[in-house]
Amino acid sequence: RSFRSVGVGNIGWYRPYSSVGNTVPNTKLFINGKFIESQTKNFIDVHNPATNEVVTRVPQATQTEMESAVESASEAFKEWSETSVLTRQQVMFKYQQLIKENIHELAKTITTEQGKTLMDAEGDVLRGLQVVEHCCSITSLQLGETMPCISKDMDAHSYRVPLGVCAGIAPFNFPAMIPLWMFPVALVCGNTYIFKPSERVPGTCMLLVDMLQHAGCPNGVVNVIHGQHETVNFICDDPNIKAISFVGSDQAGRYIYERGSLNGKRVQSNMGAKNHGVIMPDANKETTLTQLVGAAFGAAGQRCMALSTAVFVGEAQNWIPELVARTKSLQVNAGHLPGTDLGPVISPEAKERIKSLVQSGIDEGATCLLDGREIVVPGYEQGNFVGPTILSQVKPHMQCYQQEIFGPVLVTVGADTLDDAINLINTNPYGNGTAIFTTNGATARKFTNKIDVGQIGINVPIPVPLPMFSFTGSRGSFLGDTNFYGKAGINFFTQLKTVTQMWRETDVTPTQSATAMPV
Ligand code: NAD
Repeated sequence: RSFRSVGVGNIGWYRPYSSVGNTVPNTKLFINGKFIESQTKNFIDVHNPATNEVVTRVPQATQTEMESAVESASEAFKEWSETSVLTRQQVMFKYQQLIKENIHELAKTITTEQGKTLMDAEGDVLRGLQVVEHCCSITSLQLGETMPCISKDMDAHSYRVPLGVCAGIAPFNFPAMIPLWMFPVALVCGNTYIFKPSERVPGTCMLLVDMLQHAGCPNGVVNVIHGQHETVNFICDDPNIKAISFVGSDQAGRYIYERGSLNGKRVQSNMGAKNHGVIMPDANKETTLTQLVGAAFGAAGQRCMALSTAVFVGEAQNWIPELVARTKSLQVNAGHLPGTDLGPVISPEAKERIKSLVQSGIDEGATCLLDGREIVVPGYEQGNFVGPTILSQVKPHMQCYQQEIFGPVLVTVGADTLDDAINLINTNPYGNGTAIFTTNGATARKFTNKIDVGQIGINVPIPVPLPMFSFTGSRGSFLGDTNFYGKAGINFFTQLKTVTQMWRETDVTPTQSATAMPV
């Protein structure tokens, strides 16, 4: 069974897994419109999580290569920033079409490198595509403001102008969606870009930049450099880079926010999460349990908006055995096989970490109602599989509650009242997402008003906002003051320039220079 062949079909795009003979292919850099073989000696192996077979090797770009990417982006900025908004819009029109036409190919690459199911991988592309579609309305989004007659013969207007070279650093869990939160919004505003994908899932982004080039984006407008810490430090320090978008873990997010900010850059940093779903006893039981199972275990729990903590209020605590029974029907298998509900987790290290957090919960007094730690998937014995796992009687002091597990593990907590549930969530440091399941409007309204979390679902388990809104995770899940995509995204990638002008039909020369502020 060769997973190397589960790459791109005969569509003529960059092929992440095309190799000569039996050698493992290297992922290329993308600089000034060209795919380039890195001169580095340091490579990172990328494994298919279902088999642990090496599918490609990612280069740690050299200092010279990274500098040449920034040089290319700086040079391209001179023209791109002055390209008409209609031209930039046309690139986006073509780009969204190409992504749509090739969604299956993109999804295959995601499944090969990341492990999620093909259907879920298409969802990953689709949610990114929606951002590109929204970028097509840049002709309205980037409008400035005007005010005529602010004084005699004097008018003012403000423009939203691009910043220059911007950069993005992405995580492994959404290989298409998260890059598409970043560079399309930057480019359509007139910026140029340096992108660093996760070193664990580089292939999808290479396809995406190839498609962007085919959509008419000029050379140098988007560049891809690979690597780990050295690349991140380079992005944080290079004085030509004006803004950084980061999505990933807390540790990296705080580091990049601090280092980038110290260097005077704008930084937006989306980080970890511990999303609670509150189940009220008046909720529609069937729908709620179905939604909970999907939101907790979909993508093997590797979503920043996964509902990883279920807070059952009052009588709803009696529903837990039914939740367990439903979860048992999920199929764990390689992501490309039909019928799979959960694929593998990203790496053997991630699997071990998840297993040890489950064990810590048991050691600290939680009850393991469903234990997927020792699952073996026939034909994929080397894969990083963890079956759905449910811990009950979890208390806030336990490690399994305090840490983001980022695997197919649902922890359940009991609460006597809605107020107790709200208090629990507001005490948790994270603020990415939360949901409540209820049939009572007043309960939903109270929850919405009292809860201190940036994204709230009412009978919606994963409330990720569509791109006409913004991704508004808060508190410990976000650093910065301007969110991703939507209006906030446009604001992040532009700065205001305000012009105050006076035109008089007949010039009246003042008799004296005014040294005081005009009143
Ligand atoms: P990660 O932080 O390990 O990696 C993200 C990026 O940062 C990668 O490009 C990586 O090369 C770089 N990086 C990793 N460690 C670094 C370090 N110490 N210093 C500098 N750079 C470093 O994250 P991941 O494991 O790829 O992704 C999973 C995490 O991302 C989870 O915590 C998840 O909640 C979070 N996430 C958050 C959102 C959101 O919008 N809030 C969305 C998706 C994922």
